[in-house]
Amino acid sequence: MARSRKKNFQLPKGMNDILPVEQPYWEKIRKTAQEVAANFGFSRIDTPIVEDLDLFIRGTGSSTDVVKKQMYILRSKGSQILALRPEATPGVVRAYIEHGLSSLPQPVKLWYLGPMFRYEQPQAGRLRQFYQFGAEIIGDQDPILDAQIIQLSFRFLQKLGLKKTSLQINSLGCPNCRPLFRRNLVDYYRSQRKKICLDCRRRLKENPLRLLDCKQEKCQPIIAQAPVLIDCLCNECRNHFKSVLEYLDELEIPYFLNHHLVRGLDYYTKTVFEIFPESESALAKRQTALGGGGRYDGLVKLLGGNETAAVGVSLGLERIINQMKVESIKATVRVKPSVSLIQLGDLAKRKVLKLFNEFQKAGIVVRESFSKGSIKAQLRIADRLKTRFSLILGQQEVIDETIIIRDMKTGIQETVPLVKVVKEVKKRLKK
Ligand code: AMP
Repeated sequence: MARSRKKNFQLPKGMNDILPVEQPYWEKIRKTAQEVAANFGFSRIDTPIVEDLDLFIRGTGSSTDVVKKQMYILRSKGSQILALRPEATPGVVRAYIEHGLSSLPQPVKLWYLGPMFRYEQPQAGRLRQFYQFGAEIIGDQDPILDAQIIQLSFRFLQKLGLKKTSLQINSLGCPNCRPLFRRNLVDYYRSQRKKICLDCRRRLKENPLRLLDCKQEKCQPIIAQAPVLIDCLCNECRNHFKSVLEYLDELEIPYFLNHHLVRGLDYYTKTVFEIFPESESALAKRQTALGGGGRYDGLVKLLGGNETAAVGVSLGLERIINQMKVESIKATVRVKPSVSLIQLGDLAKRKVLKLFNEFQKAGIVVRESFSKGSIKAQLRIADRLKTRFSLILGQQEVIDETIIIRDMKTGIQETVPLVKVVKEVKKRLKK
C-alpha cells in the first residue's frame, strides 16, 4: 500500500528548538559563561557529543539511573558502541588523560558548554536534550578549590541576575569511610524493606546510597530517619568538609547542610552540592536544581589515568533561563545603531551590493532588503528594524553618483556624493 506522502514532522519528544526570539537568553548565557570562566582562569574544552559507551558505564557508573535507564546508544558501522553523552565530565577526564594534560602545571581548569542527552520521562525541567555549562578543576585536592567551583557557579548565576539561590551541601566521604556508612544504611533499610518503593528495593541491592535520593512520597519518612554519612566520615574527609565550609563562610556564601544529598552519579567523593532557586517549595526543590557538582578524586584513575584529585560543577541552562523568566529577568541584545540600504532599479541593486561590503568593512551594521523592489516596501522594513538612517539609491542618484541619507527619526533627507557616504554616515552615527 502506498504510504501517505504527507507527514507532519515534529520535534523529538523532550527536545527543544531554540527559536530566534529565545536567542537573546542563550547569547547572554554563553557570553556570561565565557566571561566568568575566563575571569576564574578556566580554559575552554569541547569534547564530542558521543563517546565510547563503556566510558559512561565505568565513569558515570553502571548502576546509576543515568546509565541504566537514560542512555541513547548508537551502534555505528564498526564494532564500537557509542553513546550520546548524558554528562560531560567523563569525556573531559578522558581528554585530560588522552592528551597528557597531567604534564601541564596542575591543577588544570577547564570549562565546557554544550548539549547533553538523557532518555528521561519529559516533564517541566526535565528534557531529553538539554544544555549544561560546566567547570572542572583537575589535579589538586585542596578544599579551597571545592569552594572556588561553588564561587564560580554563584558568580555565573548572579551575573545573569539570579541573586536568590541557595546552596545545599554534603560530604559523601571516601573509599575508606563510605563502606561503613553503606553497611549502616543497608542494615537500616533492610529493617524497613516492606515500607519502601520498588525502585528502592532495587537500589538496596545495587546502589544503596541512592536510597537517600528517592523522590517517592512513601519513602520520605524512611529517608528522614536514615543514618547520616557525616557521622561516619574519617578524619581526612571530616577536615576537608570543615575547610570547605569555612571557605564558604569566608566567601559569605550561605549553605544548608543536607545530609541526604547524594547526587545521581557514582564517582563523587567528599564534597557534593546542589544549587536551587530560593523561591521553590521544598517539594519542588527536589526536581529543580539549577546545578550541582562535587569532588571526584577517584575518576581519573578509574578511567585509566594516575591517581588525580578533581572537583567540578555543571549547571542546567534551560532551567536557568526558565528561572530568569520566573524572576522577570530580561535578556536583551544591545542593538548597535544601523543603516538600511534601499535601492530602485537593477543598476542601483548592483551598486548597493558593493556598498554593503564597504559598510561591513567599516564595522557599521547594515540592513538590506535586496529582494524588494519598491522604495515604500523597503522603507517600511527599515522602520520595523528601527534603523537610524536609510540610504536611498534611485535611478537619478545612480546617474549623478550620489545617494540620499534619510534620518529615520526626523524624516530629513540629504543628498551626498556616493564615494563619501561611508564617511558621512560614520560622522552622523557618532553624534
Ligand atoms: P546533574 O549532574 O545530573 O545533577 O545535572 C546538573 C544540572 O543539569 C541539574 O542541576 C539540572 O539543572 C540540569 N539537568 C540535569 N538533567 C536534566 C534534564 N533531563 N533536563 C534539563 N536539565 C537537566
